[in-house]
Amino acid sequence: MGGQNGQRRPLIAGNWKMNGLRADGLALAEALAAWAKGRQAWGAEMLVCPPATLLGAVGRVLEGCQVSIGGQDCHAAAQGAHTGDISAAMLADCGADWVILGHSERRQDHGESDGLVRAKAVAALGAGLKAIVCIGETEAERDSGRTLAVLSRQLSGSVPVGEDGLSGDSLVVAYEPVWAIGTGRTPSREQILEAHSHIRGELTGLVGDVAGAVRLLYGGSVKPENAAEILALEDVDGALVGGASLKADGFCAIYDAAV
Ligand code: PEP
Repeated sequence: MGGQNGQRRPLIAGNWKMNGLRADGLALAEALAAWAKGRQAWGAEMLVCPPATLLGAVGRVLEGCQVSIGGQDCHAAAQGAHTGDISAAMLADCGADWVILGHSERRQDHGESDGLVRAKAVAALGAGLKAIVCIGETEAERDSGRTLAVLSRQLSGSVPVGEDGLSGDSLVVAYEPVWAIGTGRTPSREQILEAHSHIRGELTGLVGDVAGAVRLLYGGSVKPENAAEILALEDVDGALVGGASLKADGFCAIYDAAV
């Protein structure tokens, strides 16, 4: 049973990262579609973010199902000389409703700063996409007692405060401790509660009443075995799931834990 967080509908989002060729992505999407078609009640939202190469094909398989698709990144510019990049409008044109921004793997691998993540979020909202802005501390930052300061800095730098299109529906914040991603380690209940409560408070300072409607996802080694406990926590409005989203049965079990 998921957490009772007022008007916020839980969101279970799968980040496929750079995994899967066409056959794998289609098989996964078909398994999700079969599951979705047999489902009557949708107490939570489900989203999958495949590699950009599979967005169109996965979107076609999931058409008519209550499962949205999203990108894993977009460029801050609307168009132009940016070889290899993808604009927010291109994602929307492929059928995406969402985009993940500022994932720690992009911050690390591509040197993305808070300012760049913010610019990408502005572009996403401008193209009509909903943005999942990721934040989270490294292990060294946690060990040196800087977790909450890091979250504050990332939030104030990355959230597109004051921009057109920003609302409780179009902005989601994912708290993903870097040391919990893909490691099988998860923070304690107290650590998740502390981080989410801090994020909600900081967001209130940034966007006022809108903060109460913004969904806060937890991400980092969520799996069917720990999902119910995490999703029941106050101010946890869903999960961003990496590895466990690559298997339909596990991902659907995580969804079931949210409703
Ligand atoms: C992620 O990459 O967003 C993530 C949470 O990964 P995992 O679930 O594999 O830890």
